[in-house]
Amino acid sequence: MNDPWKLDDVNFDQQKGQLIIFISHKRGSKLSCPECGDKCSIHDTRERTWRHLNFFQYKTYIHCKVPRISCPKHGVKQVKVPWSRPGSGFTLLFEAFIMELAAVMPVNAISRLVGEYDTRIWRIMNYYVDRARSKENFSEAKNIGIDETSSKRGHNYVTLFFDLDKSKVVYATEGKDAATINSFIEDLKEHKGNPGQIKNVCCDMSPVVIKG
Ligand SMILES: [Zn+2]
Repeated sequence: MNDPWKLDDVNFDQQKGQLIIFISHKRGSKLSCPECGDKCSIHDTRERTWRHLNFFQYKTYIHCKVPRISCPKHGVKQVKVPWSRPGSGFTLLFEAFIMELAAVMPVNAISRLVGEYDTRIWRIMNYYVDRARSKENFSEAKNIGIDETSSKRGHNYVTLFFDLDKSKVVYATEGKDAATINSFIEDLKEHKGNPGQIKNVCCDMSPVVIKG
């Protein structure tokens, strides 16, 4: 492990069927403030646990007393750990695994497979999807295709918007009325798109959408 982290112990609990990896920081080390990066002395520690990738069929956790540093400029702050993003109860590798699964199966199937509440799976997905979408740039979008589909056996409608030149979904929203067009336009503008430069729109939907 890289400084200042060190492996203290690995404990396998056969009854619970889980493996716990104990990590701590080396005594006397100075750690970076998460705000400014300055090396600061340690104030205290807080116990934290993260779910990691399984060890064979067993749930595996990393346990660490995470130091809080005392920064002259920013006060007492918990340091960043290299195996997880701030605020998550999972390691980065576990989250990457979830995102791989999410590309090929529904969330409730992932939830059953890994033994976590679906709300926790959704939180991971929302974080990474929001982060990826915030970097999208639709400034080139000129030819847009619109289509509707239904989920939950036809009770919920979803409208999809495609950039036809890139063969890519650029926006998806619930509903199938003219309001979906407005929310698409808003999203387009938030991602450097220009509604005025859209030349062609291709759709085979109801008159209310065409009105939008
Ligand atoms: Zn600081």
